[in-house]
Amino acid sequence: MIERVLINVRGVVQGVGFRPFVYKEAKNYGITGYVCNTSEGVLIDAQGLLLKNFTAALRENFPKHARIDSIEVVKVTKTNYINFEIRESITGEIGAVIPQDSALCSACLDEMYDPNNRRYHYPFINCTDCGPRYTIIQMPPYDRIRTSMKEFVMCGECAYEYTDPTSRRYHAEPISCPDCGPTLCFYDSQGDMVSGDPITLATSMLQAGRIVAIKGIGGFHLMCDATNDTAVKELRRKKQRKSKPLAVMFRSLEQAGEYGFIEAEESKLIEGAYKPIVIIKAKKTTNLSSFVAPNINRIGVFIPYTPLHHLLFDKLEFPLVATSANISDEPILTHRETLIYHLSGIIDGVLDHNREIINAIDDAVVQIADGNSVVLRMGRGYAPYSTPLSKSVKNSILAVGGHQKSAIAIANSRNLVLGGHIGDLGGVDADEYFEQTIHTFQRFYKSESKQILHDLHPNYTSTRYALAHDKEQCGVQHHYAHILACMAEYSLDEKVLGFAFDGTGYGEDGTLWGGEVMIADNNKFERIGFLKPFALIGGDKAIKEPRRVALSLLFEQYTLDEVLGLSSPVINAFGYHEIRQMHHIWNKKINTPYSSSMGRLFDAVSALGGFIQTLDYDGQGGLIMEDYVDESIIEPFEFSIYEREINISSMITQIVTLRANIGDTKEGKVIIASRFIATINAIMHHFAKMYPDLAVVVGGGVFQNRALLGQVYRSFATRRFYAQQRTPINDGSIALGQAWWGIHNTF
Ligand code: ZN
Ligand code: ZN
Ligand code: FE
Repeated sequence: MIERVLINVRGVVQGVGFRPFVYKEAKNYGITGYVCNTSEGVLIDAQGLLLKNFTAALRENFPKHARIDSIEVVKVTKTNYINFEIRESITGEIGAVIPQDSALCSACLDEMYDPNNRRYHYPFINCTDCGPRYTIIQMPPYDRIRTSMKEFVMCGECAYEYTDPTSRRYHAEPISCPDCGPTLCFYDSQGDMVSGDPITLATSMLQAGRIVAIKGIGGFHLMCDATNDTAVKELRRKKQRKSKPLAVMFRSLEQAGEYGFIEAEESKLIEGAYKPIVIIKAKKTTNLSSFVAPNINRIGVFIPYTPLHHLLFDKLEFPLVATSANISDEPILTHRETLIYHLSGIIDGVLDHNREIINAIDDAVVQIADGNSVVLRMGRGYAPYSTPLSKSVKNSILAVGGHQKSAIAIANSRNLVLGGHIGDLGGVDADEYFEQTIHTFQRFYKSESKQILHDLHPNYTSTRYALAHDKEQCGVQHHYAHILACMAEYSLDEKVLGFAFDGTGYGEDGTLWGGEVMIADNNKFERIGFLKPFALIGGDKAIKEPRRVALSLLFEQYTLDEVLGLSSPVINAFGYHEIRQMHHIWNKKINTPYSSSMGRLFDAVSALGGFIQTLDYDGQGGLIMEDYVDESIIEPFEFSIYEREINISSMITQIVTLRANIGDTKEGKVIIASRFIATINAIMHHFAKMYPDLAVVVGGGVFQNRALLGQVYRSFATRRFYAQQRTPINDGSIALGQAWWGIHNTF
């Protein structure tokens, strides 16, 4: 019997070839009617004999980038459709999932290298399976007229493909060709256009060791020859980036394999649909400049993900340093004019194009720990991250996140959405971009939020933004938010044992927390353990100088005279006079806050073990120690737990003695690093044993340490254990945790 139904599909169903897929299945099963995008997803009006088979096919065969959250089928009165068609979008309430950008697909790559294809060597080739999405969208639903592609009028041939249901580009919104699409252009550092082939101009500059800004999907990259010491040094000097590792783009996975050891899970990520930067173990003897990632044994690698990248590598033998075009941790630049305004002293040329980037986004950064993916930066392909909500929220919620690695989150009636990496707040551009992102998200997902969630730190830009708004506000403790973020990713609604090991965050008592053990659920948390607070001599200075934190831990253990007589790299890093001065500051507690931060303890141990005394970037100490960890050494140092306080003073003396006995040797470093990681793991198991029935949840920047997270994954293998895999394990997820709390609590 012929029947008619309305099918509402929600999830990631726009910009992923979903409507052409529905069209094909409709043809397969002789269904008439139509399909269209709505602000919430996709609506199908279907009439026919084989409706059951048709809906089953929708559930089973959907396109690879799509994600179906729900399919709702309602029976309606029959009508007289004669064919099946794709109709214009219906706009209404906003709630659709914004699709993510994906890397060039292999079918398009083949076409681009086919001399008989009309898109031969065309740098903007794409299809329903690949190309820009989020970065070109002004408003949902996702249709060409609401993207930056609206500037380009389709030529006859493109229009034909766009409307031909058998074409790979049927309703591919960014469709274009050399006759009708965006074009490349090359500019000098002053912004004057240079005539000639833009790609050749760019590659000859790169060959000459110069720095070129190249427009990608979510912003500009600064690129230079990664094997050329002078070029890389120059880039570092100009960008004022002393030693923080730079990402490298290789022409292929194979070329990356010449420079690093790539495990199976890592190559899957590198070659996958989103092509993030993946941090892998570096090979020692390659021609890669030692200035790419000084003093560490890892490199961030990625491979071409736009057609333009492929065309560049056709003319280049060497890999390219490819770092976001910005000033230190400010937002990535997306427009040539602002780029030249800010960076004309850094770059030698700009390879630009005229497809506007509406929403900026950095490359995502990911690594593998014990076979599990760990997101370090929420970027292209990963953001915006959305997850369907099982219960709807009455008023939409805005969560403004933390301060470093800022990102925002929104919860509306259907989805919880976490945005991409904004950067570190506190600078004019970052703060402006932060507010702009909030406006964009409110436009995308719901007009206005009634409730705002924020960090407890009164001086964060994000907190001040929240408090300045005439809405219902509520603060969520930073480390509780870390645990909540993980609970959000796994949709946990139960009591858990949480370990939030982090840099510093504002505690409920106004002190700096960061080594926290808690029993938490979606409503509240109880702090059941924390590192015994230690002094950060000189406040912020101590964050840059692990030797100061180490010194304060020594002052706790020894008298000043004993400290002065110690054989320790920390003592050697100061003059005697300085140590006396520090002791005075410490004793009088002048600008010396106390903190339970695990991140700072990592720093202190990296100083005591002789790994590093002063940092160029956050987390450097842990990163260097990571290289020395031997998984087979699992004997922890001594520690004690009294009431809720975790006391590591015996560990400190053990490390000092060990180091004094073994001296500055690789063997000594291996023992110190390995046993330290084992100690943290043992502390966790001490608490885990007390609560054998609770699931274990971890979060916070310290878990970016692969050696620690890997060991924790292995040692909790028999337990219900959760660590974030799709959202950042660091402060990039604070907003996600805050929003998750907001969903479960009315305030
Ligand atoms: Zn494609
Ligand atoms: Zn065309
Ligand atoms: Fe944090």
